[in-house]
Amino acid sequence: MTQTPGPTTTGAPTVALLGTGTMGAGMAANIAAAGLGLRVWNRDRAKAEPLAAAGAHAAGSPAEAVRDVDVVVTMLWDAGSVVEVMTAAGPGLRPGTVWLQTSTVGVDGAERLAGLAADLGLTYVDAPVLGTKKPAEDGTLVVLASGPEPVRATVAPVLDAIGSRTLWVGEAGAGSRLKLVANAWVVTVVEGIAECLTLADGLGLDPALFLEAVRGGAMDAPYVGLKGRAMLAGDFTPSFSLAGAAKDAGYVVDAARSAGIDLGVLAVVREHLDRAVAAGHGDLDLGATYLAHQGGGA
Ligand code: NAP
Repeated sequence: MTQTPGPTTTGAPTVALLGTGTMGAGMAANIAAAGLGLRVWNRDRAKAEPLAAAGAHAAGSPAEAVRDVDVVVTMLWDAGSVVEVMTAAGPGLRPGTVWLQTSTVGVDGAERLAGLAADLGLTYVDAPVLGTKKPAEDGTLVVLASGPEPVRATVAPVLDAIGSRTLWVGEAGAGSRLKLVANAWVVTVVEGIAECLTLADGLGLDPALFLEAVRGGAMDAPYVGLKGRAMLAGDFTPSFSLAGAAKDAGYVVDAARSAGIDLGVLAVVREHLDRAVAAGHGDLDLGATYLAHQGGGA
């Protein structure tokens, strides 16, 4: 029998979260900690079950997870996996339920999901997030939300639980477009750090000198020290996976092409990330693109 998630906060929405991977697990724990009734589902059930300790009920299927909830959150891999899981959830969904879609799915993907939401009778909020594993665990993501005004109050308790800030950026789909812009920046910076360290080494310098030279000045950025030190230490513990970065770089290039924009650098960054994935580093952190410059996939 389906266990109905019981809200402990009067008037708070009940929630189903589908996809308790790197990002979804932290988000789910924070939704439960905020006192919202929560069911979770994950394809690999072993990743959903530990959330029982946080007060969430691990459902056996997407349809069971979403039954009678007010808000369905998806944090899956790409547009295809979201379509697959939401289609499976279909029999449990009631018309009018709000769908808070937080996975990174690109511009075409967001449009495809808006169409699916209409087919399923759901109110679609396109809300990808900025931040990696730790901000997801800390409830400090930045949510790039887009969707209809009337449901913003309904999803506010969920957004408050998962993030430190929500930017409402327009009609559904605008959030995914802004997410691509932000991720274009992330992959450009990380690839740039990898190349500068490689260049320093190739010119006979200690690559750490580059990090020291820019430290604290206008050319510095928190990512330079963070990812740069991790690259030099060979620490590629996944926070944002290389496979995910390559996926998103592909979305960026596709979106630019559709918009008639020439993005020379990002097209090459995408090739470099794909090369590092092909070399077998996809499950490592994005910083592992550095390995492909060290003879690990060149
Ligand atoms: P992840 O750890 O690989 O989790 C992916 C999730 O999707 C898992 O729950 C996985 O289930 C599920 N999944 C994949 N394919 C599926 C399918 N065909 N059917 C059902 N479930 C499927 O990835 P993540 O890092 O949490 O990223 C999730 C989303 O957030 C992605 O869109 C990513 O681009 C975006 N994002 C990530 C970060 C980051 O720093 N990690 C930051 C912002 C946004 P299993 O566990 O069963 O494989």
